[in-house]
Amino acid sequence: MKHYLFILFYLFCNVFTYAFHGTFWVYLFCFILLSAVVVWGSFTIELGYFVNSITHKRTKIKEVALTFDDGPTEYTPQFLDLLKENQIKATFFCIGKQIEKYPDTFKRIIVEGHTIGNHTLSHSNSTGFLSTSKMVEEIQKCDEIMYSVGNIVTDLYRPPFGVTNPNIAKAIAKTGKKSIGWNVRSLDTITDDEKKIYRRITQTMKPGNIILLHDTSEKTYRVLGDLLVFLKNKKYSAFTIDSIIKSKKK
Ligand SMILES: [Zn+2]
Repeated sequence: MKHYLFILFYLFCNVFTYAFHGTFWVYLFCFILLSAVVVWGSFTIELGYFVNSITHKRTKIKEVALTFDDGPTEYTPQFLDLLKENQIKATFFCIGKQIEKYPDTFKRIIVEGHTIGNHTLSHSNSTGFLSTSKMVEEIQKCDEIMYSVGNIVTDLYRPPFGVTNPNIAKAIAKTGKKSIGWNVRSLDTITDDEKKIYRRITQTMKPGNIILLHDTSEKTYRVLGDLLVFLKNKKYSAFTIDSIIKSKKK
């Protein structure tokens, strides 16, 4: 955590309060502002506020990573078909409970040479409020399912909703995971406007980008189709997240 931010903020609050003759409302204002900073920090994975996440690859080669979260789902096979046709390898951050629902699709992801990452057992909406031990359990149970269904072990972890906080930071350390973020959010779960999603990804296209997508809808599947054409035209290749870790280990 960036403690110096708190210290700076504390000093700022004191000066501010002193200047305005310290009323209760000034304190309240400072408190709300500080809370807003903390919430912003925990939701913005690019900042590395609580956890240092990998958000891009340092490379001069024209290559980007396509990452798909929250699967496997009923839509995943279509995504796999498209990736296969285009000979593109991606990284899938899978949810334990989804793997239990679609074990064959999970195995197919592995067989077709894509990279797998842990995205917790249940992708709970209350992820940001869980204790460290509960978070550890969420990560380990997903690992167990991955191993029993796909005979695979991964040290890649992507925080659900990109949320990080001190408990999650501890859980990541305890389970020996590497936190993987992104630097391009497609917003494919937020908007239905396919053109907007496509534009968000292509307008910021640069070597080393890690693009966040979800293999959870027909819409994203269609965007992926256009995106793969774009990458081909611009002569971009794709890298998988494990390649960053491997190159760092050298
Ligand atoms: Zn997710």
